[in-house]
Amino acid sequence: MEFLRPATGFSSRRIKIVTVTALIVLAALVGALQGVVYARPAVDVDSAEVLYERDAGRKPGLRAVFFGTSTILLTDGMSSIMTDGFFSRPSWLRLMMSIKPDPEEINFALRKAPSKIDAIFVAHAHHDHAMDSGLVAQKTDAIVYGSESTLNIARGQSTPEHQLRVLKVGQTVLIGHFRVTAFETPHSPDAISPGFITHPVQFPAKLGEFRAAENHSFFVEHPLGKVLIVPSANYSVNAFEGLQADIVILGIGTLGRQSNVFTETYWNEVVTKTGAKLVLPVHWDDFTQSLRAPLVPLPLFADNMNVAMEWLGPLAKRDGVAIRFLPSLREVTLPAGN
Ligand SMILES: [Zn+2]
Repeated sequence: MEFLRPATGFSSRRIKIVTVTALIVLAALVGALQGVVYARPAVDVDSAEVLYERDAGRKPGLRAVFFGTSTILLTDGMSSIMTDGFFSRPSWLRLMMSIKPDPEEINFALRKAPSKIDAIFVAHAHHDHAMDSGLVAQKTDAIVYGSESTLNIARGQSTPEHQLRVLKVGQTVLIGHFRVTAFETPHSPDAISPGFITHPVQFPAKLGEFRAAENHSFFVEHPLGKVLIVPSANYSVNAFEGLQADIVILGIGTLGRQSNVFTETYWNEVVTKTGAKLVLPVHWDDFTQSLRAPLVPLPLFADNMNVAMEWLGPLAKRDGVAIRFLPSLREVTLPAGN
C-alpha cells in the first residue's frame, strides 16, 4: 500500500495549498455573485423621514402598526382592522421551491398586534398578501374579507367558513367606528400569476398557485381620520372620483421599474385627487426577509426604490404633501383628520 502515499511531503502540502486557494476563490466568487444578485438600492429608510408621534400634528388620530409589505393594523383602541396579515415572508430559495405559512413568524409578529382583530382586508391572492390571512384570522378571531381566490387560500388552512366573506367591489363594511369601502384597482404592471384560485390551496404550495385574482384598495373612514390604502402600485383613471382622504398608504412595489409618466399619473389619481397631505409608502421592503430583522428595500433585480422616491419627492413637494415612512412593528399615532 506504499504507493498510495503521496511521494513527498512537499507534494502533499502543495495539494493542500491548491485546494484551500481554490476554495477561497470559489467562496469569493459565490460572495461576489450574491452581492450582484442581492444588491439593494442605497435607501436608508431609518434615516428617511419616519413618522413619529411628534409628527402627529394637531391631535392624535388612529393608531397604526406596519408589518412590512402592505400589512398594516389600524386601531382606535376598541376596534382593530388589518390589511393582508402577511408575516411568514418565505425566502427567495423557498419561493423557488414551495411555501407555507410559518406559525412561529406569525406568532412573533402578532405580539405587536391586539389579541383580537375584527377584520382582515386582503388586497389580492398573491402569497405576499394572502398566504397567512386564514391562519391569522384563526389566531385573532378576525373575519377575512377578500376575493373568492383569497378565501380559497384561507380554506386551505381550514379557516371556518363563518370567518370568511367575499369582498364585493363598492361594498362598505362597518366595524365599530370604522367604515371600510372596497375598490377594485389594477395590480401593479406585469404581475406574476394572473388568474383565479378555484379550489382550496393545499400547503406547501408552489408560488405559481397564488393567482392574483381581483385586486382591492380600501378606503377607511373613521371619526379620527380618512385613510386610503392602495396596496398595489397601479391606478385606473377616476377610480377614487370625489373621494377625500387625509392620509394615503401608498403601495410603491415595483414603481421603480415604471416610467416617470406612470408614477406621476398614479400619484395624481391616488394622492392629488383625494387631497391627502400625508403619504405613507408601503410594499417597498424585501418580503423574503424575516420581520425579526429591520426591513430592507427589495433587491435591484426586483425593484429600485431609489427611482420611485426620486419621482415621488418632487410630486409631493408640488402638492405640499409629506412623505413619511412607518417604522416596522411599532405602534405609531397617525395625525387626526380635519
Ligand atoms: Zn401581487
